[in-house]
Amino acid sequence: MLLGSVEAGGTKFICAVGNEKYQIKEKVQILTTEPKETLKQCINFFKQYDDLQAIGVASFGPIETNLASEKYGFITTTPKKLWQNTNLVGMIQKSLSVPVSWTTDVNGSAYGEWLNLQEKSPRVSSLVYYTVGTGIGAGIVYDGNFVGSQGNPELGHIYVKKHPSDMNFTGVCPYHHDCLEGLASGPAIKARLGIAGENISKENKIWQIISYYLAQAAMVATLSFRPSKIIFGGGVSSQWLVDLISKEFSLLLNNYVEIGNLSDYIIVSHIPDNGSATLGNFALAKKKLIRII
Ligand code: ZN
Repeated sequence: MLLGSVEAGGTKFICAVGNEKYQIKEKVQILTTEPKETLKQCINFFKQYDDLQAIGVASFGPIETNLASEKYGFITTTPKKLWQNTNLVGMIQKSLSVPVSWTTDVNGSAYGEWLNLQEKSPRVSSLVYYTVGTGIGAGIVYDGNFVGSQGNPELGHIYVKKHPSDMNFTGVCPYHHDCLEGLASGPAIKARLGIAGENISKENKIWQIISYYLAQAAMVATLSFRPSKIIFGGGVSSQWLVDLISKEFSLLLNNYVEIGNLSDYIIVSHIPDNGSATLGNFALAKKKLIRII
């Protein structure tokens, strides 16, 4: 039996097939150009495999995940104009005739992280996964289920208290200007210094500002959901940044609630090659298949 994974990103689609144990058999990257062309390549990749049983798709958004909506399976009001109102699930299902699970890119990753932690002791029952890169998003998993009914939580767009040294920066979010994403995403870092985050040394004081904002995100996650763990992934995340975030978080929380050992509570993603979404998608595809059978 083979399972498929589509990590549909704004710049590339990562398509993979794997076995029942979620071991990757083949993985390809396809550029995100326009829907017909990208999906044609994506579908051709999967057509090589006769024993493909189900596919898990985790996509950039906004997407419609409400099963009662006639737009279920669509990428909806994305700023990427060519992809607005694209019936991604419908097109994949029609061409490959297999069950398709459907969720946001961050949920796919969050599920992969959750699965990866299931073998650990003590068992991790819940987590909030933040991705910090081109945008900021969060996926929340509680006992194997996602949080959100009318849509997915949008923790990347919460309002945060401005850092005293950052008062003049207006933020880059086209909807809210200085929300979390507007202040702490990759483009927000680049807007301040003119260089990308990965080329800025860890001694630069910008990271004090960024970690101040991300610590507030961890604070909101803690106070709202009381998860077992908070995980940071995505292009900007690294162990030293998580250490800075943890330090700020500790000051903000001020021991108000018990979170256990801080270095076990806020962690950086440990799944190699940014593989959390692929792992999550395989598992979600299998879950979908089992539900149908
Ligand atoms: Zn925003």
